Amino acid sequence: MNIQWYPGHMTKAKRMMKENIKLVDVVVELVDARVPVSSMNPDMGEIAGGKPKIMLLNKIDLADPKRTEFYQSYFEKDGWAVLGINSRTGNSVKQVPALVKDVLKEKIERNRKRGLINRPLRCMVVGIPNVGKSTFINQLVGKASAKTGNKPGVTKGKQWIKLKNNIELLDTPGILWPKFEDKSVGIRLAMIGSIKEEILDVEALAIHVLDFMKESYPELLAAKYPVEGMDQMEGHELLTAIARQRNMVKTGNEPDTMRMSTMLMEEFKNGKLGRVTLE
Ligand code: GDP
Repeated sequence: MNIQWYPGHMTKAKRMMKENIKLVDVVVELVDARVPVSSMNPDMGEIAGGKPKIMLLNKIDLADPKRTEFYQSYFEKDGWAVLGINSRTGNSVKQVPALVKDVLKEKIERNRKRGLINRPLRCMVVGIPNVGKSTFINQLVGKASAKTGNKPGVTKGKQWIKLKNNIELLDTPGILWPKFEDKSVGIRLAMIGSIKEEILDVEALAIHVLDFMKESYPELLAAKYPVEGMDQMEGHELLTAIARQRNMVKTGNEPDTMRMSTMLMEEFKNGKLGRVTLE
């Protein structure tokens, strides 16, 4: 597979990101809790240049809670500060400012010793497209916040949003590009709808979903599409059986696997098959 993300613009995007990161104290990377590894950018360590990093497992409402728990400790062991959040409802988002403060406690202490009290703690949000950056920022910022303009010390054109706890957020998130040498990473990102590029046709993608569900969450699959003899089927055969079960047929009573695939992908992406983690 040969997909280039932002061909040509990637070097520029990376350079700009590095410039922005110089202005902040902490980088907040959003990943999708359903594919935490595939949706993180492996270059982030290098791009962040030693700045502390927080990883937010977003969309936990769609992910398998047991796997989310696993990934939380997995990434913590790897040196990240980690929090699972649902940016749509936002309750868990409220914990983020405290986490930022915690991650920066040594810096706050150093500042205090140098007589720098209430120095703003600056952060920026980064993540691949569609991971929920805007939703998260809106939720975090709420209505109570105010943008701060071009005051001294702020690079021209940069807007900072004041949050509680003396935290300031760069108002535009950094858009990361997914990175995959490994084909299965691209497929997983396509399965959750993070890749708009057609890396696979929808039918092939639906078959990936079915095979994955059958392997990892057979009871959820059977509950959603009660097809008799599911155990014995796989791939296209199973897709056809589901189309029949859903009464999705073309003229001549032929199962419409194309339409069924589109519907299945919508249902899968929106958590209608249940809470699942793909890796
Ligand atoms: P961005 O491209 O990273 O800025 O992503 P957006 O903020 O535009 O979000 C992409 C989609 O994900 C939108 O449909 C959001 O409503 C949805 N979304 C964001 N956060 C969550 C979440 O925590 N749970 C669920 N279920 N959907 C979310």
